[in-house]
Amino acid sequence: GSKEIQDELRKELEVNNLKSEVKIVETGCHGFCEKGPIIIIYPEEVFYCEVDPEDIKELVEKQLLEGEVVDRLLYEDPVSKESIPSYREIDFYNEQQQIALTNCGQINPEDIEEYLAVGGYQALGEALTGMKPEEVIDEVKESGLRGRGGGGFPTGLKWQFAQESEGDKKYIICNADEGDPGAFMDRSILEGDPHKVLEGMIIAGYAVGSDEGYIYVRAEYPLAVKRLREAISQAREYGLLGENLFGTEFSFDINIKEGAGAFVCGEETALIASIEGRRGMPQSRPPYPAQEGLWGKPTNINNVETYANISTIITEGAESFSSVGTEESKGTKVFALAGKINNTGLVEVPMGITVEEIIYDIGGGIPGDKDFKAVQIGGPSGGCLPEEKLHLPIDYDSLLEAGAMMGSGGLVVMDEDTCMVDVARYFLDFTVSESCGKCAPCSEGTKRMLDILERITDGNGKQEDLEQLEKLAEVIKDTSLCGLGQTAPNPVLSTLKYFRDEYKAHVKDNK
Ligand code: SF4
Repeated sequence: GSKEIQDELRKELEVNNLKSEVKIVETGCHGFCEKGPIIIIYPEEVFYCEVDPEDIKELVEKQLLEGEVVDRLLYEDPVSKESIPSYREIDFYNEQQQIALTNCGQINPEDIEEYLAVGGYQALGEALTGMKPEEVIDEVKESGLRGRGGGGFPTGLKWQFAQESEGDKKYIICNADEGDPGAFMDRSILEGDPHKVLEGMIIAGYAVGSDEGYIYVRAEYPLAVKRLREAISQAREYGLLGENLFGTEFSFDINIKEGAGAFVCGEETALIASIEGRRGMPQSRPPYPAQEGLWGKPTNINNVETYANISTIITEGAESFSSVGTEESKGTKVFALAGKINNTGLVEVPMGITVEEIIYDIGGGIPGDKDFKAVQIGGPSGGCLPEEKLHLPIDYDSLLEAGAMMGSGGLVVMDEDTCMVDVARYFLDFTVSESCGKCAPCSEGTKRMLDILERITDGNGKQEDLEQLEKLAEVIKDTSLCGLGQTAPNPVLSTLKYFRDEYKAHVKDNK
């Protein structure tokens, strides 16, 4: 609804002769989706939420002409019932720590000047004029940054592999093929701050010795694609992409490739095949993309959020970055909060925060005071965690140990009314339709698992079906060619582990 609000706002500013005094800045997502559309009045930082076009007349007259706050449009604290005028005092925001999202919702993503004004491309300048490529890689290694797309592989090490590979040409790829149900992290970063991603890619290009990059972005994200195209053309205009950047020998340019909506194309080798114009199917590794990637050349692939962390690591230093997070998982992570949670939205939190803190302190708990049942972390590759895991610190290793995984950052909350067998069936149905069909364990095995789950949810399941499900799941995990198949059984296995009683309640011979 923001477009209608903006039109109304322009009209009212005109009527009240405020057009030359008040500037409207359109930003990307501010994170608090539940309370949108949002208007923030600067410099006071008054935060208005759930604004309707009908509210605009009063807002302009009271706030802009008389300098008084419109109480009814302020955020109300659900516990104290008090109105909070500044977003910085709202729990949803002040419990967060933002690195990748720091400019999202703050600057106009379509204006490079706004990115420059908040220190944008300073890191690129510092890297190109003051650091050797090896020093950039060392800085990223020391920061402890791990891939934010799901796997959690150390980013600096990945860059080093690509740098050490022999090749007359090397490529940098940004994986923006976000396809998990309930995930919108990459989309919001690209729509809200595309230059931060471009800057990370250019620095990666300098570090590994590449002069060309590709962004593989879903065509279903038209606004992200539009803003990326604009950002690339503005960066070229400002001499931040192209030949001899910052007066050095280093040249770099970026292309966009729109994906056609296949979930499996988020897998590195399938993504590369898709850019090359081949069918997006994974290949067995080695060779890894760092050795033989796009068109057979050494290639470094990271996802959107990973690149969005790079400029901060360069300007503020590895030490500052690694002071946030846990021993093995440094920095922050962006999560998309969805499902049965009061504050749906986009959040960035330090690694090591507990599931409980995210759901209750930031997410505001469950609507209607219902009981928490489970949280699904990591999309179709992840797992469902029960109440006893609420205290679990969110980091790559703890989540894996508990049977879930970080994934790209989708976090779907379920309340007491949710049927966990149905949830498992939903995610498996998703993987069955997204399996590329290349290897039998995944393409056939997941279908057989889905048959069993449907039999169970239809009320025709048997006790032995549960054992069969587990057996199939283990084989699929062990023998599938790529990550999609290897992780597809996770939602079923984790629900079987933590919510077995619900499965038992469904099966006929309920013993
Ligand atoms: Fe394709 Fe699934 Fe095999 Fe991956 S595991 S290659 S998605 S069939």
